[in-house]
Amino acid sequence: MTITRPSTLWRITQGQRRRYGGAILAMASTNLFMFGAPLVGKYAIDMVVNQDVAFAAPPLLWAAGGLTTGDPYIAYLWLSAAAAVLLTAVGGLCLFARGWLAARASEAIVRDLRETLYHRLHHLQAAFYHTADTGDLVQRASSDVETLRVFLASDIVEIGRAVMLVICVTPILFWMDPQLAALSLCVMPFLAAGAYVFFARVKHLFQATDESEAAMTTTLQENLTGIRVVRAFARQAYETERFAARNAEFRNHNHRLIRLMALYWSISDLFAMSQIGIVLFAGALFVMDGSLSVGTLFAFMTYVSMVIWPVRQLGRVLTDTGKAVVSLGRINQVLDEPEESKGRTPAEGRARGEITIRDLHFAYQPGSPVLQGVDLSIAPGETLAIVGPPGAGKSSLIRVLLRLYPYQRGSVKLDGQEISDTNHQWLRQQIGVVLQDPFLYSRSIRGNLAVGRPNAPEADLISACEDAAVHSAIERFPTGYDAMVGERGVTLSGGQRQRLALARALLKDPPVLVLDDSLSAVDTGTEALILEALRRRKGRQTTLIIAHRLSSVRHADRILVLADGRVAQLGNHEALASQPGPYRHLCEIQGALDASIRQDVDAAGERHGHL
Ligand code: ADP
Repeated sequence: MTITRPSTLWRITQGQRRRYGGAILAMASTNLFMFGAPLVGKYAIDMVVNQDVAFAAPPLLWAAGGLTTGDPYIAYLWLSAAAAVLLTAVGGLCLFARGWLAARASEAIVRDLRETLYHRLHHLQAAFYHTADTGDLVQRASSDVETLRVFLASDIVEIGRAVMLVICVTPILFWMDPQLAALSLCVMPFLAAGAYVFFARVKHLFQATDESEAAMTTTLQENLTGIRVVRAFARQAYETERFAARNAEFRNHNHRLIRLMALYWSISDLFAMSQIGIVLFAGALFVMDGSLSVGTLFAFMTYVSMVIWPVRQLGRVLTDTGKAVVSLGRINQVLDEPEESKGRTPAEGRARGEITIRDLHFAYQPGSPVLQGVDLSIAPGETLAIVGPPGAGKSSLIRVLLRLYPYQRGSVKLDGQEISDTNHQWLRQQIGVVLQDPFLYSRSIRGNLAVGRPNAPEADLISACEDAAVHSAIERFPTGYDAMVGERGVTLSGGQRQRLALARALLKDPPVLVLDDSLSAVDTGTEALILEALRRRKGRQTTLIIAHRLSSVRHADRILVLADGRVAQLGNHEALASQPGPYRHLCEIQGALDASIRQDVDAAGERHGHL
């Protein structure tokens, strides 16, 4: 079965039930063979103790008679030993089959579950990722799945084993001696009930230990990911202390758990021993008054020791079942999340890049409008710069364009096709986005570029990197394009990461290219080179540039000034700079800033001249 939606423990075993049936059958056979061995022993002992073949097992005695013409006693003992070994060996084989079948079944289910979860995590609505905690999602996809795996691989079979043991052994015991059978089982219910109550009580401690481990892992992960920030702010001592606190919490919970478990196993040992003690004591009395044979007592002792272990484990197995239900519930929460709607794929493969936005209203949460009635038409091949104060809605406009969030009113069209009805994958193939803080994989530079266009010819790779002004920097790495990029690109400078991400987008060569503040960490000289290269590519794609520097936007065909989610101004640099308004204000501020920087540089130059 392929798991595609939330499920119950029973339903996820669908498709693997034949294997589980086989495992349970193999276990029943194991019990049958393994339980046969003590019976063989019982008859052999009784025959030897009583020196009488009347006490031997008739089928074995018959076989021994047929095998030898010599002493039937000796032949019987040899045959008993061989039968006991054979029964145990075949039982062992069945045990192996049980483990193998259960492992195959559980691995198949868990693999399916992992794949479904991973697929779903790739296709959920964008809003989900803005609120979800990455560490928590990792925990669900790894340790929750692992809890389920352990349950499916061993606990289901353990439950079956305990039930089978009780079902198989009880009749044998009562058949051998009803009175001793009743005494042999008298402590068991208390042991089972005690195990259940104990594990139910410590369940919260198991959970607390799991949670404190997750908190410790999250702290470690955060610190490793943000190691540069930790160092830059000299926060090592603080972070070390924070980690030590989490570590101590985990240790304390674990310590309590180990103490309680040790107490439980000792007390249940006492119960188990008292059960064996009762059998030994009562059995010895019965042997003495002649109502029980020594062999039967031996068989009783063996059977009771066999049953007592799974009964002691039953509490743990039941707790594991509870944990598996909790884990499956957490996985179901993810599977329950709605996926992005697919939409229609337009017939023509590549878009022309015409964007038409009419009366667009958008809010992340009701009551907090972010875009309020935006109207905009962008021609194919046009370069539009978007400026505006932080929080004006520039990035939100791009997210809406990418269909990451649904808009509430108005219309957004690419090539005349309403994007809410367009296939999201096709749409995102048409739009290449470079973010301010781009994500790079911990692969080689070539591997990162290949994300833009797999198997691109070397010449295209180099040309994209040249346009993004990063080719010469890559050439300076000892291994060039094969240089490894550390996790999240830590071995590259901020500007290099931005330029590499731009090269990746240029290599993809999409009909719409969006630079979302993506040249902020690049120096002005390099920025000019990149903008020049983009101008050379003009006409190949519609380009949207979100930027703060005037130098990035002044050469755009048109400039859109957003303020409070509305279009405040729209026009080219000359037109906007010549009329009063926010754009001229921006020019004045940046002009004044540039002048003051120039003055500072000149003054510093003069002082240097005097020295
Ligand atoms: P800009 O890119 O112009 O700086 P944004 O589009 O990022 O502005 O943000 C516009 C508004 O939307 C801001 O008030 C911001 O707080 C809010 N906002 C941005 N992202 C989210 C989000 N994921 N959930 C809720 N509100 C958001």
